[in-house]
Amino acid sequence: MRKEIGLRLLPIVLFGLLAPRAVGQAPATSSGSKPQPAPVVALKVCERCILAHEEFLASDAMQGRGSGTHDELVAATYVASQLRQYGIEPAGDKGSYIQLVPTVQRKITSPPQVRITPPGSEPITWDYGEEFLVADLTQTEFSGPLRKLDIDKVSDVEKATIEPGAVVLVIGLDQSKVRQAAFSLASHAAAILMLARDSQSERFEEVSEELPKLNDRLEQDSAGDSKFNVLELRQGAFRALEEMADGAMVRFEARSSDKKGSTWNAVGILRGSDPSLQHAAILFSAHLDHLGIGTPVNGDNIYNGADDDASGTTAVLEIARVLGRGRRPRRTVIFALFGSEEMGELGSIYFSQHPPLPLKEIAANLEFEMIGRADPAVKDDTLWLTGWERSNLGPALAAHGARLVADPHTSENFFARSDNFVLAKRGVVAQTISSYGLHGDYHQPSDDLAHLDFKHMDAAIQSLLEPVEWLANSSFRPKWNVGGQP
Ligand SMILES: [Zn+2]
Repeated sequence: MRKEIGLRLLPIVLFGLLAPRAVGQAPATSSGSKPQPAPVVALKVCERCILAHEEFLASDAMQGRGSGTHDELVAATYVASQLRQYGIEPAGDKGSYIQLVPTVQRKITSPPQVRITPPGSEPITWDYGEEFLVADLTQTEFSGPLRKLDIDKVSDVEKATIEPGAVVLVIGLDQSKVRQAAFSLASHAAAILMLARDSQSERFEEVSEELPKLNDRLEQDSAGDSKFNVLELRQGAFRALEEMADGAMVRFEARSSDKKGSTWNAVGILRGSDPSLQHAAILFSAHLDHLGIGTPVNGDNIYNGADDDASGTTAVLEIARVLGRGRRPRRTVIFALFGSEEMGELGSIYFSQHPPLPLKEIAANLEFEMIGRADPAVKDDTLWLTGWERSNLGPALAAHGARLVADPHTSENFFARSDNFVLAKRGVVAQTISSYGLHGDYHQPSDDLAHLDFKHMDAAIQSLLEPVEWLANSSFRPKWNVGGQP
């Protein structure tokens, strides 16, 4: 997924270009006694660096940084190389920045089927490409009782009670609201069924020429597959279910084959100078991967992901450059760029199981997602934070000058749609910063360099530099508000 130019000129203005510290060299302080306060230097974003990162990461040469592909490894290696230049130490495997994540690549090998058994009646069998298509799939088998949910009859879809094992048929007049509800509910149910956007035979035939894609999973995933299954139904099939009573058993089955794969994180660390803050590190993160090469749209098959999430990766690199440039911050700062976010946050799940510091010693995580374009729903040069009301982190950053407001698109459930959620579920105060204004290039080949707003991106990153430097040098430990931790 998914702030103020306002250079607040301090009395002595040195525009940021202090000589970088050599790697591993101790900070230039009179050691031993009290840590020195942060240097008084106006922080200045490096516009050329931002352009350079984007031009590399979102280039056609990177082929869309597909999750778990060689292109993703190249992106991770690029990030590692930048972190090295900025004086950030490696925190990946064996003294390197790269953290290799073993995965299992899964492939569907025959067209899936759905079998529906209404109470007291004979089962009905549906074929892939005839009655249904697959929008998202993480499991090769699922089943559960049918439960119809008419979103026009509930006030808040988020609060609709869904039995975890149910197969939910989402009904509603507004198709875009139906799709929104479907994706925000998908991880709470066995599966979601909805009317296809386009029920024409030609589209069903065209799409079903290829078997559905299945997300990779972590090799070590003992808890089994995470659930995110969404099927699209043809008009007739949808109507049949709509008329059926709740409780009919719906069973989905597909055959698949597995092979070993990998995905890669790039991880760096800047060790803090203040021993009293040793157990309260800050983690800045974003995801390296995007959708790779896919279905062509207007003759373009490269899903560059310039906004999603080369822009977030670029923001983390700029923060690394600024924090690495001079005196060590008081707190330890970790920079993590995750692989395979687009395939179910595999990189961040692995990171949360193999962190460079115990998770309880990470006081806060800020994930950056889609900050490459302005969101018309908020003021100019402003970013928003997911789960604003869940913790006191957003208000504290805003109080220190961040042009940061509450996420204006709460029905999209963005808080749960990025890597921050993986860490939040494990207790870390973890939220995502974004300015994604629900633009139509989301997950399209047109999310490319030509559609980025560099003026916005420069201003957005600039506005965060001082608040971020404050955070890295303060002893503020954010807390979840009551009921805020997922
Ligand atoms: Zn994405």
